[in-house]
Amino acid sequence: MPSHQPVAGEQAVNPDYLSSQPSAMAKPQEPNRTKGYDPKKPHITDQPITRKNWYKHVNWLNCAFIVGMPLFGCIAAFWVPLQRKTAIWAVLYYFATGLGITAGYHRLWAHTSYSATLPLKIFLAGVGGGAVEGSIRWWARDHRAHHRYTDTEKDPYSVRKGLLYSHIGWMVMKQNPKRIGRTDISDLNDDQVVVWQHRHYLKVVLFTGLILPTLVAGLGWGDWVGGYIYAGILRIFFVQQATFCVNSLAHWLGEQPFDDRNSPRDHVVTALVTLGEGYHNFHHEFPSDYRNAIEWFQYDPTKWCIWAWKQLGLAYDLKQFRSNEIEKGRVQQMQKKLDQKRARLDWGVPLDQLPVLEWDDYVEQANNGRGLIAVAGVVHDVADFIKDHPGGKAMIRSGIGKDATAMFNGGVYNHSNAAHNLLSTMRVGVIRGGCEVEIWKRAQRENKDVHYIKDEAGNRIVRAGNQVTRIQHPPETAGAA
Ligand SMILES: [Zn+2]
Ligand SMILES: [Zn+2]
Repeated sequence: MPSHQPVAGEQAVNPDYLSSQPSAMAKPQEPNRTKGYDPKKPHITDQPITRKNWYKHVNWLNCAFIVGMPLFGCIAAFWVPLQRKTAIWAVLYYFATGLGITAGYHRLWAHTSYSATLPLKIFLAGVGGGAVEGSIRWWARDHRAHHRYTDTEKDPYSVRKGLLYSHIGWMVMKQNPKRIGRTDISDLNDDQVVVWQHRHYLKVVLFTGLILPTLVAGLGWGDWVGGYIYAGILRIFFVQQATFCVNSLAHWLGEQPFDDRNSPRDHVVTALVTLGEGYHNFHHEFPSDYRNAIEWFQYDPTKWCIWAWKQLGLAYDLKQFRSNEIEKGRVQQMQKKLDQKRARLDWGVPLDQLPVLEWDDYVEQANNGRGLIAVAGVVHDVADFIKDHPGGKAMIRSGIGKDATAMFNGGVYNHSNAAHNLLSTMRVGVIRGGCEVEIWKRAQRENKDVHYIKDEAGNRIVRAGNQVTRIQHPPETAGAA
């Protein structure tokens, strides 16, 4: 056994490693921490929300940033006319600050899906701050917890607590810092740009969130107030709501082509809203891939930007999973769906649940008027089907009470795959000693290995042409001559 493989009794994870990991708890200077928080005292979230204490559950600072400020912006917009240049600037700056979150906070820092040169890092840390969503360090830690503990209690924005909670509720309401899952952010603590942005977070936010957009519009074309309201406050609101959709909409709307055990989903609408973060099922499966959309026609401007930065020498080491790995995931999920679909269909009574008949018994019952036909040792009751038989009533009647194996398999007519499938739904018994069926049944009784392909739920898979009634080389019969 190779030396790096843990053996029984040895711990797979060194406890020294765990204790060396940074605490999941936010440090006092972190923006999401309430100054008075003491981990020893019971947290407000330990108490149920009542009419008397509800205001204590609300995170008023976050409320001011994500509810109060946009509300003020909307009201102010009634008195501030929107100039065309300001509108264009606000949209451009919306994309820049959105990219700060998607290409910077998310794909560069939270997932290290590529590396960036210092100028690009400074740009992303700056404009990312302008989206007013907390520091890179805080954001990435929560996001790593989200990936590690998706949909569980430890997921900071679990969609299982409701769409609205995953979108905004987790910020508007106080969270118990003890609840959020532990993650390793030692690489971020070693990143000078991250540390700098975290330390000067308030200054960064004020400058790139409000001062810069106001300055550009003011100095550029004299629209100071418009720059402040539209490119500043309202643009922050739109960027926030758009990027929050990654936590809500991307876990709620769309397809799950890679894995459906958790909530992440792929949808073009989410991609359009979130600068390409909409292929979230793919993203949760392959989080360190710099792409979200893997097809050229899917909308992922964040990926296009990272690629363009690479051409300009600003980004490097773009990580990408081999398509072989991606396709394996896709095929397995398709297989799962196929199994579910197959399980809903009627494939006939399983052979091992059918009664065993003596040949003479079968013949006697057929002679007494039952419409029984034996094919490959399996007895089928075709009475209700005689009138519908595409080959005519006479043909099917001629097989009643006989061994119709050869007739059915080419002796008279080589029946189609669909015919074999249909026949299997009519089976009512097996003949003792009849072809391979009886051998198989005996093996079942004796608990021997019977090599039939089964799906995950144990349902037998019958492939086209593999029905038990299909005999490849039927014996010659008089009718075939
Ligand atoms: Zn997610
Ligand atoms: Zn992610």
